[in-house]
Amino acid sequence: MKPRIVRANESQTKIAPNDMFVGQVLQDQVFVPEDPSRLRVTRVTFTPGGRTNWHAHAVGQILYVLSGVGRYQMEGGPVEEIRPGDTVVIPPNTRHWHGAAPDQMMCHLALSESDDQGNATTWQEAVSDPDYTTAPA
Ligand code: MN
Repeated sequence: MKPRIVRANESQTKIAPNDMFVGQVLQDQVFVPEDPSRLRVTRVTFTPGGRTNWHAHAVGQILYVLSGVGRYQMEGGPVEEIRPGDTVVIPPNTRHWHGAAPDQMMCHLALSESDDQGNATTWQEAVSDPDYTTAPA
């Protein structure tokens, strides 16, 4: 890991792949893991209705909401509204999804690490419209 400032224009904004996300979602790499760190920091911008598929993180994930109005659900739990300044703590190997509200965008930082085998995220099926549109608790 070399000391430096990673400039805002060093990496291009990418459109998130549609086998892992529903709707228009943009990803900006804030920090890509550099040995010995395993931390990845991504700024993710979800347009209204945009969300992740169901997925799980080998060593968990921290989300920090920067702007907009979003939604988060852990499997078996309620759909919860998330707002700027909220930090969502997602334990290891816990099925969940996150995204924008149906009529609002949402931008969060996503912080996650890989495990000893290099695994970080396991992607699963898309969140159904009925699951997504359940009114937040
Ligand atoms: Mn996640």
